[in-house]
Amino acid sequence: MRIDVVTLFPQMPALIAECGITSRAAKLGLWQLKIWNPRKFTHDAHRTVDDRPFGGGPGMVMMAEPLAQTIDAIRADGNRGRVFAFAPSGRTLCDERVLELAESDEDMILVCGRYEGIDQRFLDTYVDEIISIGDYVLSGGELAAMVLMDAVVRRLPGAIKELSASDESFSTGLLDAPHYTRPEEWRGMKVPEVLVNGHHKHIQDWTRKMALQTTATNRPDLVKIARSKNLLSEEDEK
Ligand code: SAM
Repeated sequence: MRIDVVTLFPQMPALIAECGITSRAAKLGLWQLKIWNPRKFTHDAHRTVDDRPFGGGPGMVMMAEPLAQTIDAIRADGNRGRVFAFAPSGRTLCDERVLELAESDEDMILVCGRYEGIDQRFLDTYVDEIISIGDYVLSGGELAAMVLMDAVVRRLPGAIKELSASDESFSTGLLDAPHYTRPEEWRGMKVPEVLVNGHHKHIQDWTRKMALQTTATNRPDLVKIARSKNLLSEEDEK
């Protein structure tokens, strides 16, 4: 998978290819990152990428032309994938969409907004999908693009052990159960006995129970969805 990112702050998305699982996946050849600065596609002395909003109001708006020329250059460079932009007004990213994008293994182009956002005419003509990463406002789309890249790349086949991904929050319809590591006793707090005694079935039952409890407490909406999809057994319901 090839991902091209359009950003005024190239140093931010570059980190994704340098750290952890996403860096290892790049080294394995599972994906490749290219970063483009729309300032390079401006033709005035100040390399202007933004201007005041029509109709007044605070802040600046990213101009359509430098972004359009950047996408044209990315297309000419061979990326034929979908174009994504980021905004609080977009569709909230979820595990299902992440998995779809990873399984499709299609190239992507990610356009990071800054200021008050991007000229709507660019969004209408060049962008296929607008993604929000939550109900809050960030200073720019870079972190949202990094969230999308991280979430998708770790689901590419071979990026992490298949079992880890299928066992994680949301994949099971529930949130994750708590985890513990050595030492067995830390500051007077002991690891739950069931995890120490090594009885596989008991560990499985405990993990399921804790996942159900965490989900019911923190995200009761997910329990309802899991129930409607018949993901809960009679034992779970107890
Ligand atoms: N004027 C916009 C509004 O009220 O919705 C906020 C613009 S924000 C300061 C600048 C950029 O950050 C946006 O164009 C978008 O790319 C990004 N951004 C901010 N919050 C976001 C979120 N929750 N999800 C995805 N992108 C976000």
